[in-house]
Amino acid sequence: MIARTPLHDWLGRKLGQEPSRDSLASYHLARLRETLAYVRERSPYHRDRLAGLAEGFPPRLKDMARLPFTTPDDLRRHHLAMLCVSQDQVARVVTLRTSGTTAPPKRIYFSDRDLELTLDFFQHGMSTMVEPGDCVLILLPGSTPDSVGDLLARALARMQVRALAHGPVADPALALAEAERRGAHCLVGIPVQALALAEHPGAERLQGRLKSALLTTDYVPRALAERIRRAWSCEIFEHYGMTETGLGGGVDCRAHAGYHLRGADLYYEVVEPQSGTPLPPGEEGELVVTTLTRQAMPLLRYRTGDLGRLLPEACPCGGATPRLDRVRGRLGNHLLLPGGARLPMWRLDEVLFAVAGLLDYRIRLTADGGARRLQLTARALPGKESGLGHEITRALAAIPELGRSLAGGGVKLEPVKIASQAWASDGTSKRTL
Ligand SMILES: [Zn+2]
Repeated sequence: MIARTPLHDWLGRKLGQEPSRDSLASYHLARLRETLAYVRERSPYHRDRLAGLAEGFPPRLKDMARLPFTTPDDLRRHHLAMLCVSQDQVARVVTLRTSGTTAPPKRIYFSDRDLELTLDFFQHGMSTMVEPGDCVLILLPGSTPDSVGDLLARALARMQVRALAHGPVADPALALAEAERRGAHCLVGIPVQALALAEHPGAERLQGRLKSALLTTDYVPRALAERIRRAWSCEIFEHYGMTETGLGGGVDCRAHAGYHLRGADLYYEVVEPQSGTPLPPGEEGELVVTTLTRQAMPLLRYRTGDLGRLLPEACPCGGATPRLDRVRGRLGNHLLLPGGARLPMWRLDEVLFAVAGLLDYRIRLTADGGARRLQLTARALPGKESGLGHEITRALAAIPELGRSLAGGGVKLEPVKIASQAWASDGTSKRTL
């Protein structure tokens, strides 16, 4: 018997009745109408864009497809006009820069009430894996007030769980020593950092004590999660969310069959990426999110750039919240091979993180006259550097479409480089190709 996700009861309290497909749909419809009326009253940006809509829109959920999308570029250019409260009601502004570009940053605004709803979701989501008296090592940025690590620590305190705000891992030995000394039952971190910790010498001392690890911020390759699970014999949970969704978005239950979404605060759609046409449940496309309870800066049909699919069937745990299959990556995050074949990053991840001793990698495909050059830099587990390049080369050649390009000479693989240090991470960005 799998424990039902605590988010089922959480959602029931928000709905004021037992969550079901019907009760959730009528809740979503009511919140969407409220949100649209609210932004039209308070945001110059939305007032202009939604000028032609009838009062009380949308008449049905499927009419949401008639609303324009909000894009990341809209957040860069119009964030102030999207704001629905006065500046002094803004409790926190998150500035998101896109690495490698000179584009202006995205800005996302939160009020105290918005942050309170994030705390509430964190608290109930975390109760999937920890209970009062437990201790959680948080390996996320937490030094500034209302940062993700700080909010998580405060949410845990509400359920009598001790939180150790360590921050992103700079030195695995130090993080492990803290987990051991303070007796952590669970750790929350970025997938590649958690892997580096799990396989660091001495990590086995946490075996038996550490019950679970929650991986968040970035996509979680199955091969990587499996290595952490093996190293610590612990249960692996995954969280999906982004700053735009108010940090929290969805978390899997003990059935590990997709993420139970934060359905009281967020309405998800899946659309065909090129045309923007809505796709039925079960089909994969771009995730589009509308906030239902956001005060400072509600988002309408925000294009996340993430690829995913909603799961139509009920979860084995019995929880009746909307559910999202594990997200595998972003639109456009692929290598373009000769002949036009696209090799998505998630497939490279599954193959490369299955190579023992590899902790992280960077890969580039550059054009060089006729042939393209594939450059890969790997970060190795200390002591596992020798032979790693050979193993990686073999793994890449075993990917059918890449193997063909390598064998045919359309792609030339340069000797694999081994990085001596971890790549710097601010703990907020996702890995890209
Ligand atoms: Zn479930």
